Amino acid sequence: MKKVLVMEDEASIRGFEVINLRRAGYEPIEAETGEAALEQLRRNPDIRVALLDVMLPDIDGFEVCRRIRASDSKIGIIMLTAKNQEMDKVTGLMTGADDYITKPFSPAELTARVDALYRRVGDAEELQEDSGEIKQGPFKLNTRNRTLEKNGERIRLTQIEFSIMKFFMDNSGKALSREEILNEVWGRDYFGELKIVDVNIRRLRIKIEDDPTMPSYITTVWGFGYKWGL
Ligand code: CA
Repeated sequence: MKKVLVMEDEASIRGFEVINLRRAGYEPIEAETGEAALEQLRRNPDIRVALLDVMLPDIDGFEVCRRIRASDSKIGIIMLTAKNQEMDKVTGLMTGADDYITKPFSPAELTARVDALYRRVGDAEELQEDSGEIKQGPFKLNTRNRTLEKNGERIRLTQIEFSIMKFFMDNSGKALSREEILNEVWGRDYFGELKIVDVNIRRLRIKIEDDPTMPSYITTVWGFGYKWGL
């Protein structure tokens, strides 16, 4: 079964998510609190995607995200944020979430986002035959283990960050538009905002650049997108 964690304290919203995920063929694993969510993840290591509500009575969604990422860089994480939480979205993504959905959302939006991320995480697990290594400057990307090293040191990446790195390294020296990156990494059927690209790249820069405030590997192509180069 395709397990998805649903962490939401409000029963009506949780019920809405659960019904729609079931309809789309998922097995929702419910959690009312942050602690319960972490416990469910320990019990169900085969959960591939987690939907985390930000506003919770115990530990908030960002903290749950941080704790999950401390030990698991593979699971896909989608934050559920209220309207007018623009800063929260960014904070949430910086703690390691792959995507966010703004409340209120439609069943179609929910399942499209979960489908896209689920596929991304699933492909990553099943792509065993792709066993290459890409070496560029201080970086070594292993496409079988989906790991990245810089000067021999392992850098922990989420699946989304890994996919962005791979896309960059396959297109070294070429300016890539934000739309191209979005289509490649999130999929053509993704209907979120382009901003998700910027936030993920900002986080990636913190991990891989010598000085993230003066990026030298991932450079910005103003009004267009980004370019990878050494
Ligand atoms: Ca809530």
